[in-house]
Amino acid sequence: MKIQTQAVHAGDRKKAGAHVPVTTPIYTAASYSYEDIETTDQVFAHEIPGYAYARYDNPTNHALEELLTALEGGAGSLACSTGMAALQIAIATALLDRRKKVLAASALYGATINLLMNVMGPFGVDTSFVDITNLEAVKAAIAAEKPGCLLMETVSNPVLRVGPLDEIARICREADVALIVDNTFATPLLVRPLELGAHLVVHSLTKYLSGHGDVMGGAVTADEAHLPILRQMSRTAGPTLGPFEAYLAMRGIKTFPLRMERQCANAAAVARFLRGLDGVERVFYLDDPAHVDAATIARLFPAGQFGAMVAFELKNAGTPEVFAFMNRLRLVVKATSLGDVHSMMLYPKMASHRDLSPKQRERMGIRDSLVRLSVGIEAAEDICADLEQALHQ
Ligand SMILES: *Cc1c(COP(=O)(O)O)cnc(C)c1O
Repeated sequence: MKIQTQAVHAGDRKKAGAHVPVTTPIYTAASYSYEDIETTDQVFAHEIPGYAYARYDNPTNHALEELLTALEGGAGSLACSTGMAALQIAIATALLDRRKKVLAASALYGATINLLMNVMGPFGVDTSFVDITNLEAVKAAIAAEKPGCLLMETVSNPVLRVGPLDEIARICREADVALIVDNTFATPLLVRPLELGAHLVVHSLTKYLSGHGDVMGGAVTADEAHLPILRQMSRTAGPTLGPFEAYLAMRGIKTFPLRMERQCANAAAVARFLRGLDGVERVFYLDDPAHVDAATIARLFPAGQFGAMVAFELKNAGTPEVFAFMNRLRLVVKATSLGDVHSMMLYPKMASHRDLSPKQRERMGIRDSLVRLSVGIEAAEDICADLEQALHQ
């Protein structure tokens, strides 16, 4: 079945006694009781399916997890309270039986770098970084570092580089390195990393999948080999998503393919418009035939769909000019986060990449004139008009 169909059907409409609720109810119970204690014993022993305690599992989260598994094509999923909680449990799962060493993409979400260096580092998890768009460098780093896992994002933030995920997966499998892919930017509408050979896929549900800027959540989808470890670890570590949030995430996901299709089309229109605008120095969008990773993008992405993140540099602009430009925006929301129904703009130098030195930013291609736009579902001409008036006023 196509992802558009799965999004509205998977996980829902489980028989509850005589009736079938058309959407999954919010189960707030912290624990579950059975008619006799022998049944409870069997549930605890996993001899029969059932719920025991909400930290382990509950019917609302279970429905969301089934839905996520259908979208990403894995063996099973875990819904977590945030994307960061999902990343942490995914890394712990990957490294349980492997060397406590992470090989990470050099361009990663800022908090992910912090997680590796300042949360996992002090507990003996060592991290080194590699440019994942350079396959020879990845091979050399795997041979030299012998990492337990490789952590990458399908599309990097904010300058939108795309590494050869399929080839990296092949190298990882040969070397028994677990491949964890943060697929938040691409979403399973565009790229399904498990089908390309990744072992674990992570999402910030807060972004495109929920899509309305009103819920925080994360998810890990695992292959057959890692699912039991993931579930076993989460029972104790407890990164569990609350049932209200699980309900909201599931409600959001039903329209996710529809929203994402529109957002991709809008982003392409906005990128085209920006390229023709005076006052714009350079536009980063994955549809660019001159993109450094164009061959990889053509192989991994569906024809004509390139995601909904656009970054661009303002001509002759430093921080004061970027601030003035952003202050003139009337429609585009000036806030962090991405993937919502409304368009949002972020200034990487001030927000996501604030903690880096100017040199580090320069090395990552993040200039003072660079802004990042998450394109929403509004009419494309209204988004374009807002950007134009803010540039030329
Ligand atoms: C937002 C984000 C995260 C973290 O997710 P939270 O839900 O904010 O914890 C991780 N990775 C990427 C790529 C993100 O955009």
